[in-house]
Amino acid sequence: MSDLSGRRVAVIGAGIVGTCTAWYLRERGFEVDVLERRDGVALETSWGNAGVIAPGYVTPWAAPGMPRKVLSYLFAAEAPVLFRPVPSVALARWIARWLHECELGRYRLNKARMQRLAFHSRDALHALRARLGIDDGRRQGYLQLLRSERDVAMSGPARALLEESGVPHRLLDADAARALEPALARGVPLAGALWLPEDESASCPDFAQALAAAAHTAGVRFVFGCTVRRIVVERGRVLGVLADGAHEATAPERDAPAPGLAPAQPGELRRYSAVVVAGAVDALPLLAAHGIHLPIWPVKGYSTTLPLADGDAGPRHAMIDEAYKVAITPFPGRIRVAGTAELGSRALVPRPAALRTLVKVGRDWFPDAARWQDASCWVGARPMTPDGPALLGATPIDGLYVNMGHGSTGWAMAAGAGQVVADVVAGRRPEIDLDGLTLERLR
Ligand SMILES: Cc1cc2nc3c(=O)[nH]c(=O)nc-3n(C[C@H](O)[C@H](O)[C@H](O)COP(=O)(O)OP(=O)(O)OC[C@H]3O[C@@H](n4cnc5c(N)ncnc54)[C@H](O)[C@@H]3O)c2cc1C
Repeated sequence: MSDLSGRRVAVIGAGIVGTCTAWYLRERGFEVDVLERRDGVALETSWGNAGVIAPGYVTPWAAPGMPRKVLSYLFAAEAPVLFRPVPSVALARWIARWLHECELGRYRLNKARMQRLAFHSRDALHALRARLGIDDGRRQGYLQLLRSERDVAMSGPARALLEESGVPHRLLDADAARALEPALARGVPLAGALWLPEDESASCPDFAQALAAAAHTAGVRFVFGCTVRRIVVERGRVLGVLADGAHEATAPERDAPAPGLAPAQPGELRRYSAVVVAGAVDALPLLAAHGIHLPIWPVKGYSTTLPLADGDAGPRHAMIDEAYKVAITPFPGRIRVAGTAELGSRALVPRPAALRTLVKVGRDWFPDAARWQDASCWVGARPMTPDGPALLGATPIDGLYVNMGHGSTGWAMAAGAGQVVADVVAGRRPEIDLDGLTLERLR
């Protein structure tokens, strides 16, 4: 293998995706800077997600029957999927492509592509956890709560797909579900549940921060408060980036600048031989400036996190209430309820109606687990491609790479995607086939 030391790579974004990418780049011998506009790791979408890692359940949102479902929700004040149209050519194109991808054949292809990465990613995550001794509050197993017989019947096609792809699962009756989750409230109708024993949940920011600390020890430089304004390209090759602000920091907290990395002046060129863009939705303009238009739109989601009032009154496993598409996840000392997919404006504004739904579902199932009246609303933007799979690896510009568009499953995909992209940058053959996961599919 070639010696890559001395080859400096910038990773733009210290979310879960950028942090994993940086770790694997360093492991492959690169000098790595992570450039992050915020003052720490995993402070944006990676902060408040549901924490579910469910390769068996990974599925594109462009699926047969979805357009009809979204239409039926259109005028509902509160629904799991909300469409709030805004005038935008990019959004219109995104929706047109999404509709095309809802066809059964396209859906199956996209799902297979996502699952290829998801299963690889779970293995990579397990290896990282074990090697670095990271404790991210992992819980084994994932439960899908089915309130009515109709929900049970509607889970049929999903179960058939699980069967087909050999994913272990079991349809439980209400008693068996309550035996797994003794604190589930008795008053709420429960027709059954789908149990996925090999899926899991864990805290994405806890993992990201621990990995960043390990990466920092291994030599990765985290430069916080650093907004990348431009990627500089000359004759089809990356030269570096222009960024505002910049102070090196120990991860995950800010520290004084360390010797060897002078704070950059605004507008000063920071030279790199390669740049990996892992900055989710807000980094799209950096690529568009070079004619690389990725079809990624922010699909907003909400969550609330509360201290666990009494551990025995809370969930043992992560679960999703299928009727509301709301996830409930136990973290050490905390309970999180997350959900809603809102397509429309880019503005990240907490929505009281979304919070009401989250609190209703959390309180329905676990009334004594938390002081639900204290709930507050977090909002994040899922960086969503219309077909589902992310966009990984090379771009038409020499030295410019992406790790973007992980949508609703970025935590589940991050370790595998980081490894794959680091392999592409290093000129190594990735461990999985990248067919359908690169920019090639946009042609
Ligand atoms: C409600 C909700 C629930 C979810 N539940 C799950 C789940 O259960 N399981 C799962 O796998 N996924 C889930 N997700 C999706 C998951 O959270 C995302 O896919 C993932 O966090 C994306 O990670 P990222 O690193 O790409 O983006 P981010 O975490 O948003 O990180 C991008 C970083 O780039 C930085 N940045 C952007 N532009 C610049 C710039 N110009 N210069 C410097 N820095 C820049 C940002 O500050 C940010 O820190 C959920 C999402 C939501 C909203």
